[in-house]
Amino acid sequence: MSVPYEAIIIGTGQAGPPLAGRLTGAGMKVAIIERGLFGGTCVNTGCIPTKTMVASAYAARLASRGAEFGVVTGTAVTVDMQRVKARKDEISGLSNHSVESGLRKMPKCTVYQGHARFESPHEVSVGDVRLTADKIFINVGGRAVVPPIPGLDQVPYLTNSSMMQVDFLPKHLIILGGSYIGLEFGQMFRRFGSEVTIIEAGSRLIPREDEDVSAAILDILEREGIQVRLGAKCKSFARQGDQVVASVEAAGAGSDIRGSHLLIATGRRPNTDDLGLDKAGIAVDARGNILVDEQLRTNVPGVWAIGDCNGKGGFTHTSYNDFEIVAANLLDHDPRKVSDRILTYALYIDPPLGRAGMTETEARGTGRKVLIGKRPMTKVGRAVEKGETFGFMKVLIEADSQRILGAAILGTGGDEAIHSILDVMYAGKPYTVIQRAMHIHPTVSELIPTMLGELKPLS
Ligand SMILES: Cc1cc2nc3c(=O)[nH]c(=O)nc-3n(C[C@H](O)[C@H](O)[C@H](O)COP(=O)(O)OP(=O)(O)OC[C@H]3O[C@@H](n4cnc5c(N)ncnc54)[C@H](O)[C@@H]3O)c2cc1C
Repeated sequence: MSVPYEAIIIGTGQAGPPLAGRLTGAGMKVAIIERGLFGGTCVNTGCIPTKTMVASAYAARLASRGAEFGVVTGTAVTVDMQRVKARKDEISGLSNHSVESGLRKMPKCTVYQGHARFESPHEVSVGDVRLTADKIFINVGGRAVVPPIPGLDQVPYLTNSSMMQVDFLPKHLIILGGSYIGLEFGQMFRRFGSEVTIIEAGSRLIPREDEDVSAAILDILEREGIQVRLGAKCKSFARQGDQVVASVEAAGAGSDIRGSHLLIATGRRPNTDDLGLDKAGIAVDARGNILVDEQLRTNVPGVWAIGDCNGKGGFTHTSYNDFEIVAANLLDHDPRKVSDRILTYALYIDPPLGRAGMTETEARGTGRKVLIGKRPMTKVGRAVEKGETFGFMKVLIEADSQRILGAAILGTGGDEAIHSILDVMYAGKPYTVIQRAMHIHPTVSELIPTMLGELKPLS
């Protein structure tokens, strides 16, 4: 026998819980299913805990630089990893608790704990229970990719999830993967006091960004004593005593990197392989992402896929925006769609990288006449005053329309300052709107109009 609902939501990530709120608010009887921790990746093993730990690492860094600011701390700075973890657990735990209690208290919402699987297009099982609904929303997120490298199954390794249990200082942390997750953990643990080696197969860090961004980030990390091995292909792993040995090949030569711990940070994959999608006839792409249209509908009528599992975002804000798109279409007669949004995200090393729209490489690739503005953070008063002058800001403008194509702010406050550029992009207004705006002194944002007054053709 199956239990009928008007809507079933699988997963309690960034889209499922607010959608449950809107659907029940509209009078629907909703079932929501979670197999792990309420709140999903962002709350438990992603954004919130890592940014909380980044804050601890920043405090450690600033404390060790105290003398530069005239602050006398006396003894050498050390980090109590158990307190770092306890602080992280408390902050992350509050969000986890608020998602769970919010759902449990929600009128017309029933929470099921367990692994959900499709049995047919409109039937889902959780353990022995079967649920049916005309509307099903898949919000199952993703998990760390573990690459098939020989010997990896013979050595202990960490992922972003198991890193959350680390309450000690790894002596030497080897990180496989020089992209967003690897860099955040790498700088954080270096600041806590670990030796850190990042192994990256590509010729530069975070290759999705422009070369000048990659180069500046490499410089920032190396200055802090992080070893970065670029163009290094990891051939195998082995355990020697209490050490992990990574055998790498770079420029035709082999070498071994020894460390006490290993973090795998080579990307994410959607949690769609164990969902019974074949029984429902729901189509996925080669990477396992559920195929959706502009309004996040799958190929099966009455089934939507929202958040990381549809491959259209990969961020907390894109998952939440997916919820908004679905709710707007279903409940508000507002035809919002995925292509309405502008790509934006941040990388939370210190200083952070705030990004919006196209990179310089992409802008060049459009074949349009493009103007560029660029300013080093050494020429941003606020950065100088804070003693945080690494990085730069740059903006790309389409010359004919005067519209902003994209921007990057790698520098103190870059994750916040990028929003003034982003919002003008959303408004569809010319860059001159910001150029003529009066911004607050002293801020990082106050130099954005100045940069826009010094545009040059992109050569
Ligand atoms: C280390 C790290 C740092 C990050 N930092 C940032 C950041 O700073 N900013 C940012 O925007 N993004 C960041 N992200 C990405 C962000 O966490 C994700 O994009 C976001 O959490 C995706 O949310 P979601 O709604 O797609 O699903 P998730 O949050 O992944 O939730 C999916 C839920 O579904 C459950 N589930 C899966 N399968 C089933 C099933 N079969 N049955 C029942 N339940 C199931 C899971 O247990 C999980 O709770 C980070 C990610 C990582 C790993």
